[in-house]
Amino acid sequence: MSHSFHRQLVFTIKDRCRVCFTCVRECPVKAIKIINGQAEVINDRCIGCGNCVRVCSQGAKIPLRSVDAVNELLKSDHKIAACIAPSFPAEFAEFHDHKTLVGMIRKLGFDFVTEVSFGADIVAREYEKMINGSDYEGDISSDCPAIVYFIRHYHPDMVPYLAPIASPMVAMTRVLKKKHGQELKVVFIGPCFAKKAETTEVDEVLTFRELREMLDNLNIRPENSELSDFDPPQAGKGAIFPISHGLYYTANNKEAIPEERVIIAEGQANYKEAIREFEEGYIRKKHLMLLCCEGCIMGPGTSPGGKRFARSNAVGEYVTQKLQQIDQQSWNQNMEEFSILDFSQSFTPEDRRLAPPGNEAVLNVLQSMGKFSPKDHLNCGACGYDTCVDHAGAIVNGLAETEMCLPYSIEKLHDSISNLNVSNEKLARARAALKQSEKLAHMGQLSAGIAHELNNPLGVITMYSNILMDEAQEGAGVRDDLKLIVEQAERCKKIVSGLLNFARKNQVNLSETDVVKFMQHSLNSIVKPENIIVSFKSEIEDPIAKLDIDQMMQVLTNLEKNAIEAMPDGGHLRVGVEGDTEEITFVVADTGSGIQKENMDKLFTPFFTTKEIGKGTGLGLALIYGIVKMHKGKIHVDSNADPTQRPTGTTFRITVPRGK
Ligand code: ADP
Ligand code: MG
Repeated sequence: MSHSFHRQLVFTIKDRCRVCFTCVRECPVKAIKIINGQAEVINDRCIGCGNCVRVCSQGAKIPLRSVDAVNELLKSDHKIAACIAPSFPAEFAEFHDHKTLVGMIRKLGFDFVTEVSFGADIVAREYEKMINGSDYEGDISSDCPAIVYFIRHYHPDMVPYLAPIASPMVAMTRVLKKKHGQELKVVFIGPCFAKKAETTEVDEVLTFRELREMLDNLNIRPENSELSDFDPPQAGKGAIFPISHGLYYTANNKEAIPEERVIIAEGQANYKEAIREFEEGYIRKKHLMLLCCEGCIMGPGTSPGGKRFARSNAVGEYVTQKLQQIDQQSWNQNMEEFSILDFSQSFTPEDRRLAPPGNEAVLNVLQSMGKFSPKDHLNCGACGYDTCVDHAGAIVNGLAETEMCLPYSIEKLHDSISNLNVSNEKLARARAALKQSEKLAHMGQLSAGIAHELNNPLGVITMYSNILMDEAQEGAGVRDDLKLIVEQAERCKKIVSGLLNFARKNQVNLSETDVVKFMQHSLNSIVKPENIIVSFKSEIEDPIAKLDIDQMMQVLTNLEKNAIEAMPDGGHLRVGVEGDTEEITFVVADTGSGIQKENMDKLFTPFFTTKEIGKGTGLGLALIYGIVKMHKGKIHVDSNADPTQRPTGTTFRITVPRGK
C-alpha cells in the first residue's frame, strides 16, 4: 500500500498573522511563504509536524478540522469504531479510570471503542522480525507520519530505508476491519494531526482536542456517562508506545531488540541530524526511532500547557495497571489470530527539494538588503532563517521577502526618520521664509501707499519753500529758516523714495554687465576708512550677466556701507563674486560686530535700524530686498554676534540669475 495523497493540514488566517516569523523559524522544512508580510503554509512542502500551529501565539495557523466529517459518519448507517491512541492517559489524566473516557466516547455513538495499542503490539513484533533479520541494513521507523513525509520529500534517496511496516494506527485498522468486516468505518483519535494525512485506510482522524470539543458540544460528562471498557482485541505492552523507548519496551521481551541497535531522536534538531548522519553512512545497521515532535504525549493535537513528565507518568501508571490485569492467554490468541494479516507498508519518494538558488542571484539579494561583505551577515535569525544566505536563497525562491530582515528594516526606518527630519526642517525654514515675505509684502503695500500720498504734498512744500527762499533777501533770518525747511523736505523725499524702492513696483532695466568690473567699481563709490582692509576676489570664469546696473549698484553700496559701519574699530571687508553658468552671487563679508540673533528676521523690515537717530534710516536692507526680488534673486545672511562662539562678523550673499 502506498501513500499517494497529501491533504492540506494547516490553514492560515491571514488577518491574524502579525508577521513575527516564529512559524518560519520553527518550520523544519521552510514550508512557509511570506507574501506581502503575511505568512502562508505551502501545502506541497508541509510535512504536517504541527510546529507552526503550536508556536503561533495569534492562532493564525489552524489545523484541518474533522469534527463535522466524524459527525456525518456517526449519523450514517455504518458501523463505526473509535480507535484511541495509546497516549490517551496523558491527555485525559483527569479521569483516573480509563473506563470513564471509554464510556463517554461510546456515548458519542461509536459502535466500538478500541485501543490502538494492540496495533502497537503487532507492529513491535514486525519490527523485531525485521531488525533481527539476517539481511538487516538499518531502517528509519515509519510510524510518525511527519517523519515519513520529511523523508519522502526532502531525503527521497532514503525512502528505501523507511521501515516497510504499517503504523500502529494502520495495523489496528486492518485488525478491526478483519474482525468486523471491510465496511467498518474507523476513526482514529490521537495526539497528532499529521495522522490526518497519513493514509486513506483510516476513514477519519480526530485529535484529542477535537474529541474534547465533540464531548463538550453534546455535554457528555463523566456524571452522565456509564463506565465501560475497551472492546477487544485488548492491548498489551503496546500501550507504552507513546513514551520514549516505547517500541523498545513494547517488543515482547527486552532482549528481542537489543538496546545498542536503537537510536532515538525526537524534535527538529535531533531527527534531522540523525537522518543526515544515517544518509552519510555514519550510522549503519541501526534502527532509527524518529519523532517529529517531542513525543506523542506532547503532540500538536493534545491540549496546550500539558506537563511532560506528569503526562509520561500517567501513561506509565496506566500501562502498569493494565499489565497487572492482562489476560495473557487471550492476548496471545489474538496475536496469533491476526498474524495472518499483511502489516506491510510501502512508500514512494516524492522529491520536493528546491533547486539551489544561483550564487549570483543570492549575492544580488544580499546586496539589496545592504549586505555587501560577510561582516554584514549578522545571521541574527530574526527573519526565521538560520543565516542571511539562507534567507536570501528563500527570497530567490519566492518564499521570503527582504523586509523580513530586521537589521535591514530598522536601518531603512532610521533612514526614513532622518529623511523626514530633513524634510521637516526644510518645511520649517520654508514656512519662516514665507511668513517673512508675507510680512514684507504687507509692509511694501503700506509703504507704497504712504509714499505715494506724501510725494505730492512734499513736492509742493519743496517747490514753494524754494520759491520763498529765492524771494527772501540774502542775509534775512527767514532765509535760513526756509533753507532748513527745504533741507528737511529733501530728507523726507529721500525717505519716501527709499520706501518706494522697497515696495518696488517699478521695473528692472536689465543690461549685460561684466559683474567683476561692476563689483570692483562699487567699491569706488564708498568711503573706506583707513582702519579697514578691503579685498576683492572673483571666482567665476564668465563675468557676463544681465542686471539693472543702477539698482544693483545701490544694493552693493548699501551692503558695503553697512559692513563698514559695523566695523567702527576697523576690520576686514571682503567682497567677491561667485557663481556658475546659471547664477551670480555677490558676497559682502565683514569682521564687524555681527547681528544679534533676535534681529535676524527684522533686518529687511523698513525702518529697522540699530543705529542712532540721524545715522541710520533702516531703509537700506529694505531697498536691497525690493531690488533683489525684482531680479528674481535670493538673499542669504550668515552672522555671528557672539565672540565666544567664533569670530564675529556678517556675510551677505546676493544670488541672482544670470538672466541670459
Ligand atoms: P541702517 O543701515 O540704516 O541701520 P539697514 O537696513 O541698512 O539700515 O540695516 C538695518 C540694520 O541691520 C542695521 O541697523 C544693523 O543693525 C543691521 N545690519 C545690517 N548690515 C549689517 C552688518 N554688516 N553688520 C552688522 N549689522 C548689520
Ligand atoms: Mg544701511
